[in-house]
Amino acid sequence: MITIIRNAKVYQPEYAGIKDVMLIGSQIGALGENLKADLGGAVEVKEIDGTGLLLIPGIIDSHEHILGGGGEGGFHTRTPEATLTGLTLNGVTTVVGCIGTDGVARNMEALLAKAHALEEEGVTTYVYTGSYRVPVHTITGDVMRDIMLLDKVIGVGEVAISDHRSSQPTFEEFARIAADIRVGGMLSGKAGIVNVHMGDGPRMMDFIWRTVRETEIPFSQFLPTHVGRNAALFESALEFAKAGGTIDFTGSLDDDDEVPVSKGILRLLDAGVSSDHFTISSDGQGSLPIFNEKGEFQGLGVGNASCLLKELRECVNKAGLPLELALKPLTSNPARILKLARKGRILPGCDGDICLLREKDLSLHTVIAKGQVMVAEGTAVVRGTFEK
Ligand code: ZN
Repeated sequence: MITIIRNAKVYQPEYAGIKDVMLIGSQIGALGENLKADLGGAVEVKEIDGTGLLLIPGIIDSHEHILGGGGEGGFHTRTPEATLTGLTLNGVTTVVGCIGTDGVARNMEALLAKAHALEEEGVTTYVYTGSYRVPVHTITGDVMRDIMLLDKVIGVGEVAISDHRSSQPTFEEFARIAADIRVGGMLSGKAGIVNVHMGDGPRMMDFIWRTVRETEIPFSQFLPTHVGRNAALFESALEFAKAGGTIDFTGSLDDDDEVPVSKGILRLLDAGVSSDHFTISSDGQGSLPIFNEKGEFQGLGVGNASCLLKELRECVNKAGLPLELALKPLTSNPARILKLARKGRILPGCDGDICLLREKDLSLHTVIAKGQVMVAEGTAVVRGTFEK
């Protein structure tokens, strides 16, 4: 099967002009003008008119509770699992699954099975091994064995620090996790990232700073997330990014964080942080406490991947960032940081993961994952096994 998308404004995420993109099977085969695929009718060639549309890499969501999460308000507050169209209808073609607070009733075997299920349904999936808890509960017995022996494991996390829900690891325990996942990542050609859940406790990023200062482990091993949770944590994360680290913003539908993503990114850029050093993830399917205007607890909501395109629009419309820059934390940055070589870019040889957005409002028009059209004109054409 060959698919040619004609005359779209192509963002690789760098702007490449109005071009055709040819998908051959599951991969991008060519990027150019007036592309032709004449194989004498031996292979079906499908064409999509991209006129007036922006062609961007499929979104990589580097932190989503695909197995469900939550549970902090009792068993009935456990959140539901991710669905295929919950990802694709929000432009996500690659997702990294993680377990959160509850590492008992949610375990790695189930997370891995869920990741395989979503992969079979059409998107690309990876997982972090573990949960909030330390010692880390793995599949094979330790984090190094997990990353070396299990294809889908690309790091460890989300390890919780500076949070009342953390298992309060010692510094030595934390550094050992980082060391093991780093070496296991080196030996298996993977990123070996420590995805660190940042709580709102006053110790903030102390353990990460200490690991970098007191051991040989570099900044690049860590991807601390939820960095916009409060102003003080954001300042600490800003210093970390200035020193060469990478930080992850959690997208939000109502900007209840003290430091909204688009404002936070502007602050980073104003402070001279490279646009390569931040990512945005959804925390999708995680539980979100809902408060009324008086600050009273009203119940729990569920995180949703729809925050990602919303944050993209805010980066462009509110913060005034060029689209090619606003796309980086959702595409090429997570691909590079997580060492997903064929993801996050529009280049021949990369996987055929593509979104088409309407130029006027950056709304989603088409989603293609590994060469397969999943969403056409805003409607899901491929659904998960049990989705109506
Ligand atoms: Zn978290």
